[in-house]
Parts: sequence; C-alpha cells; structure tokens
Amino acid sequence: MTKTPYKKCVHCGKCLSSCPSYRFFLKESFSPRGRNLLIAKNIDSYSFNYCLLCERCSKVCPQGISFPESYIKAKFSKGSFVLHPSDSLIFLKVLPFNQIQIRELDEKKLSPYFKEGDFYVYLSCGLKHLYPEALELTLSKIRHSPMKPHIPEGQGCCGIVFLGLGAKEVVKNYAKKLLTLFSEKKTLLTFCATCLWMIKRVYPQLFDVEQEKAAFEDLANRTYFVIEFLRKMDYSLNLKEKDDILYHLPCHLDFSLTSELNLLKGRIEDFCCGSAKLTLWLRGFQREFSKHWRRRTLDKEVLATACTGCYLNFSSQLRYPPKVKHWLELWV
Ligand code: SF4
Ligand code: SF4
Repeated sequence: MTKTPYKKCVHCGKCLSSCPSYRFFLKESFSPRGRNLLIAKNIDSYSFNYCLLCERCSKVCPQGISFPESYIKAKFSKGSFVLHPSDSLIFLKVLPFNQIQIRELDEKKLSPYFKEGDFYVYLSCGLKHLYPEALELTLSKIRHSPMKPHIPEGQGCCGIVFLGLGAKEVVKNYAKKLLTLFSEKKTLLTFCATCLWMIKRVYPQLFDVEQEKAAFEDLANRTYFVIEFLRKMDYSLNLKEKDDILYHLPCHLDFSLTSELNLLKGRIEDFCCGSAKLTLWLRGFQREFSKHWRRRTLDKEVLATACTGCYLNFSSQLRYPPKVKHWLELWV
C-alpha cells in the first residue's frame, strides 16, 4: 500500500514559509503540512478554501508532497454544477476592474485560416478575453514559419474555476472537451501558466480508467508553454528589456520554464498574485494580499505576466501604472 502524503512528511517545516496562504493567516491549519494532516484524518476544514492551488509547497518539500494533489485525491468528489459556461471569464464582464476590459476574440473569423496545421494553439479564456494581442503578435511573428498553427473552433475554459469549487465532474467534462478538440498527436501550445498546469498536472489525476488516463497523460506530454515551444523552433524570442518593465513569474510556470529564465535575468520576479480562485475573490482575500506585491511595482510602467488568473488579479487591484500585459505582448 502506498503511504498517504502525510505519512511521508518529515515535519521539517520547509513548506510553511513558501505557502502564501500560511504566510497570510499564520496558522498551522492553513499550512501545507497542517492541511495534509487534516486530509489524512479525514477532517474537512475551511482552510482548504484558502489554498491557492499554487503548488509552491511541492517545489520546496524534500518529500515532494503537494497539497493540491492530496486534495484532488481525497476531497475532490463533489457533484456537478448546473451552470457550465464554456468561458469562465464571461461572468467577469459585470465586475469593476481598475484597468481591464473583457474582450471578444472572434474565433469564427480566426478558425478558417487555421483549420489545419502542425501544432495546436489553445484559445484559453485569457487569450480570448484578456490579452488577444499576445496571440495576434505571435501569429504575425511566425507567419513565415514552415510549421503552421492549427486553431480548432469551439474552444473553451480549462475548468480551473470549477477545480477551486471542488466540482470534479464539471472539470472532467472540460478536460474531455479539450481532448476531443486536440485529439490528433500534435503539440499543444498554451499561453496561460494555469491552463498548462491543469492539462499537465491535474487532468491525468482525474481519470481512473486506464485508457482515459493514458489519453490525458499523452495530452500532458505534448502540451507546452508557448515560449518554451517557440525557443525549440529556434525563434529569437527577444522580450523587451527595460528597467521599468517587471516580468512576473506565475507559480504554475516554474516547472517548465527554467531554461528560459536566463533570457530576462534581473527582470523576473517570482511572487504569488494571490490567486484568482472564486472563493478567495468573494472574500476580498486578494485585496489584502495585494499589499505584499504592490510595493514591488511602485517604479514600474509594465507588469508582465503569463497567466490568466494573475492577469485578472493584477488588473483588478492595480491602477495604471503599471500597465498589466502578457509576456508575449512584449515580443520585439
Ligand atoms: S498549493 Fe499553495 S496555497 Fe495551497 S498549500 Fe500549497 S503552497 Fe499553500
Ligand atoms: S516541506 Fe514536506 S516534509 Fe517538510 S513539513 Fe512540509 S510537507 Fe512535511
């Protein structure tokens, strides 16, 4: 029998200081170690709602223990939701933001040009509604490449919003829809760190039937963050370097971008945005949390990130300057 994550824990405490949620509440039950103990004892705690699903704990833990993994295995089994929109950002149209407008990228106009191709591009909610310029600029830069993008019509959300709400069946439906759209054995590119994490780390954990699990593992193996892939294609990916531009490294990007960090030495900062999890938004957690990172952008004109949730958080909390952008909008 495999050990439960808590039984593997050596109680070193390394995960505490790197957990944004623990640093905010300063209570053991809000730490990765404490949450894993609660899970092991089968106790439901409202501290689980304050886990940002950032996986910072697993990066520092000598035993590789990830609270989100334990949570998905043990607790993630609530029923379906009636509400099941394809784009989760549609709801946000009504909310007041300091500096963003929710946009509509017309997929129908785009798809005829990219009906077939050598690699897939995932039109995530962020790419469609927050930073479509990142896609437009990338498509214009690679237009002469022998490798052509394939952008199927009818794409939607990766399901992260419903992961935060514990709705397993809903997230599985989102996962299945993406697998159907990206069924051919081609590389899949995403512009969003959290979509990357969902496809690579979460989807394979949701399915027990061997054939389904294998299909999602295959999808995970062929999914890349866009910058990683462009580098493999030998694009000289020069991102603007100026003292007043700060590149934010989203939590979910770290494990696949290490070779790219040298590109922007001294311009990247690794801090947690506070998460775009709905339960946290509703309780105003981000407003409090933002004090920690607001100070770091005092002298910046641009704060560039590469994740839909981080983009939303920064845009909702920050007044210009800094202007919030996607990394790929700064490709020169
Ligand atoms: S995923 Fe993030 S917020 Fe959740 S326990 Fe781990 S470090 Fe803390
Ligand atoms: S870092 Fe890992 S081993 Fe150490 S206390 Fe946290 S969960 Fe336990």
